[in-house]
Amino acid sequence: MALVLPIAETPPDYHRIVSPSLRIPSDTSVSIPVGLLACQRDPLLRSLETTIVSASLLKPSPPSSVKKGGHTKQTKASSVPTFPHPVLQLVLHDTVLFPEGGGQPTDIGILTSEDGVTWDVELVKRHGGVAVHYVKPGEDVSDVPDILAPGKQVNLELGHAGFQRRLDHMSLHTAQHLLSSVIDTSLKAPTLTWSLTPWPSPAYIDLPRPLTAAEIGQVQDQVNRHVFEGRRVHVEVDELRDGQAGIDSGAPVPSSRELGRGLPTDYSGGVHRMVIIDGIDRTPCCGTHLPTLSTLQLFLFPAPTATSSTSFRHFFLAGPRLLNHLGSVQVLLTRTAGVLSCGAPETPERVALVVDETKRREKRVEDLERELADSLGRQLAEEMAQWRAAGGEGEWVRCLSRSDDSQTARALLQAVTLAFAAHVPEQADTKCQFTLLLASSPSSQTSSSTTVVMLFGAEENRVKAASDELKKQFKTLKGGGKGPRWSGKFVGVWLADREGKAALTLLSQTQL
Ligand SMILES: [Zn+2]
Repeated sequence: MALVLPIAETPPDYHRIVSPSLRIPSDTSVSIPVGLLACQRDPLLRSLETTIVSASLLKPSPPSSVKKGGHTKQTKASSVPTFPHPVLQLVLHDTVLFPEGGGQPTDIGILTSEDGVTWDVELVKRHGGVAVHYVKPGEDVSDVPDILAPGKQVNLELGHAGFQRRLDHMSLHTAQHLLSSVIDTSLKAPTLTWSLTPWPSPAYIDLPRPLTAAEIGQVQDQVNRHVFEGRRVHVEVDELRDGQAGIDSGAPVPSSRELGRGLPTDYSGGVHRMVIIDGIDRTPCCGTHLPTLSTLQLFLFPAPTATSSTSFRHFFLAGPRLLNHLGSVQVLLTRTAGVLSCGAPETPERVALVVDETKRREKRVEDLERELADSLGRQLAEEMAQWRAAGGEGEWVRCLSRSDDSQTARALLQAVTLAFAAHVPEQADTKCQFTLLLASSPSSQTSSSTTVVMLFGAEENRVKAASDELKKQFKTLKGGGKGPRWSGKFVGVWLADREGKAALTLLSQTQL
């Protein structure tokens, strides 16, 4: 991700506490409530020294029981997650790691204890108004290590991977606020629900109607104008008052955009937090947001998809994920253009041409195969007629093998038998005894070369008996049949001098 932030540090006026009575707890034995965490006050802060408030060991829980009907119990967003291994639950005085919530996924990071040992923070989750860090312990841990006991100091950092992940999430989250606001204000289309989706998929907002191509162009222009203006973003925090909207949940809601942004019922932080894009938008939200829009060039995908009759999904990208998308699309296009030996702009026409040519070629192959099957069937019928005319009596046995790299060899062999049957002259005594063995084999031998064989006879019992003899002769031959036809296949190639001779001898010896 080649995104360079125009500012390295969050401006001092980014986080504004508007209530004169609201204080950030300074007592390190209590945790700062979600809404006032360091990651929310200073979204560009990457590390922090802090104190452990509480620590416990969470043992892996048994697999969740499956209820009747195969449905597992729904877990609440803020319920305790399950891990396949023991995990340490740490509550800290403050944190630079954002706890998942309000539609923004959890941060990941690194915790360093006083002895210099590093621990992976796999998940941070909000339980009530408290951020709980889920830390992967070392091997064979049976209790909380002393070094992580309450009162101990730890260093908490996002690390490179953690910061890249956060930068992506906050870029999309701030872009979502901007996009939802512009669409709501200019087109009166409130956002019903939205998702930041996992990297590298595009994020989306759901609207009550699909935007037209012209509207999408207009929205994209307007959003990017605000981006190029470098509009500032800041946060205002107040005490939560009765009836006030709190934090956005990102959950589906039926109507207004604001309805989706009520305070989660288990949130007890009592903080009302408003994210403000200067001159454009004010939305209650607990997420981390960039202090400026300037890196958030936004791309709104042109064609919305209907998710129901009243909800239409509009995908968008911004920030690092947009750059990544551009890169991967460019690689795909360049590769495709290379295969087609054309320039990138000619690719769609060239692909259409190839698809069209393929269809025509397939049609031609079908026509030729039909013609070939008819010709082979007629030749065989004529051969049999000549044999009889020359005095041949009893059963006529013939083995015909062809070389073919087709995936549909069996269909061609069947077509030959049908054509043969159609060309056999109607004979007065109807005693037209024959057994035909057709084989189709790939042109070269590889470990997966498969030969297809088909038996076609005048009498069902004879076909059945002949197939049993063939299976004895060719050990890997497997197949089945119905009526006068039996088909099978084996791994290997069919050589006229080897398999062909052996089969013909076998059929002749067991002749009726
Ligand atoms: Zn938000």
